[in-house]
Amino acid sequence: MLTRKTVGIIGAGLAGASCARAMAVAGFSPTVFESAHQHAAGASGNPIGILHKLYSKDHNLASQWVEHGVATTLRWISELGQFSSRPLAGQCGVLQMDAQANELILWDPQGGWVRPPEFVKACLSQARALGAEVHFGVRAKYIRDDQSTDTVELTLEGQEGTTFKKMFDAVIVCAAGELSRLLPDAMLSLNSIRGKISSYRLPQGQFLPCVVCAAGYVTPSIDGEMVVGASYERLADGDLAATEPGDELSNLDRLRIIAPALARDCERLTPQDRTSLRCATLDRMPHVGRVLDAQARLTPNMSQMHHMPRSSRLWVLGGLGSRGLSSAPLGAEIIAAALSGAPPPVAKRLLQAVDPVRFALRRHQRRKIS
Ligand SMILES: Cc1cc2nc3c(=O)[nH]c(=O)nc-3n(C[C@H](O)[C@H](O)[C@H](O)COP(=O)(O)OP(=O)(O)OC[C@H]3O[C@@H](n4cnc5c(N)ncnc54)[C@H](O)[C@@H]3O)c2cc1C
Repeated sequence: MLTRKTVGIIGAGLAGASCARAMAVAGFSPTVFESAHQHAAGASGNPIGILHKLYSKDHNLASQWVEHGVATTLRWISELGQFSSRPLAGQCGVLQMDAQANELILWDPQGGWVRPPEFVKACLSQARALGAEVHFGVRAKYIRDDQSTDTVELTLEGQEGTTFKKMFDAVIVCAAGELSRLLPDAMLSLNSIRGKISSYRLPQGQFLPCVVCAAGYVTPSIDGEMVVGASYERLADGDLAATEPGDELSNLDRLRIIAPALARDCERLTPQDRTSLRCATLDRMPHVGRVLDAQARLTPNMSQMHHMPRSSRLWVLGGLGSRGLSSAPLGAEIIAAALSGAPPPVAKRLLQAVDPVRFALRRHQRRKIS
């Protein structure tokens, strides 16, 4: 009898839910563990997010990645419609301007807004319909990659602090801010960046016709609300109380730059704010793939990505920064293809750009030089 590979997934945000769906569709048996009591409890719980291409003069790797990602997410949105009672997204187009909103940079007619929590819920619903298990209120405490049994052991903490263990053929860690704690030897480069979005309810007829991005973004009316985002505060050494100096614009300031007349109307209103943490890498590309093998020794002849020793069972999808909507479904499809032995959906240069061992390789190369 054929047994389906079991895949444990830690986290039920955009990354974890996308992995659950991609694994279930690819024929695996996924089990999701989420420490909160509901889906999209972290950054993916923002009521609205923006999905659009990224402009670069030379169409660099980041803009190529985002282009593939946007196409993948748009395909998922149309496939997932039947798993949601509300529209998942609005394809109103995105106007990208320079930071002062003086010059047009790009008109992306396929871009628009997405409801991340509904997207996450729809991914989990389809995954469940295909046999996936989803457990809320269960926190992953530790991960043990066990070569002797060719499995990964998860130590989990459930309701009322009960601890139990589960074994999987593979585990994908999608725990955003907890990635470095759960994978301490993987040498992932991650920062926490706090951000706030603000929703304003305005009288009808005063909204923008599409999403406009400059030093932030402003949406058109979504069920009578306009969303303005998003502030950007890098936390000093991951300390939730301390921030480094940087972006000091408020969301109302962002609105003043993009749509001054709308900003005047909003000055007397109290917005509904939501603050959460983005988890970002130093090069702003996500981590997608197999992590460094914590037990292997790095030797001087390891000078390229494919030389780096990797765990065959432990995977990561994280560090999605401000582009979770364009990176999560594509990242999940890349991992599902790799686990199934299918060809990757993107070119090798893009796989290398998001490879979770890239920072370990750079550090190893620097050590050899010094
Ligand atoms: C203010 C703001 C505005 C943004 N705007 C946009 C936008 O317009 N467009 C866009 O594409 N992106 C946007 N983003 C980025 C996007 O929200 C994130 O990239 C995305 O939500 C990250 O998804 P994730 O699943 O990696 O993380 P999260 O959504 O944070 O999910 C991680 C999950 O893992 C769970 N978890 C953590 N540790 C454990 C553990 N040990 N055991 C079990 N579960 C665990 C958490 O509870 C959480 O539910 C924005 C982010 C912010 C903060």
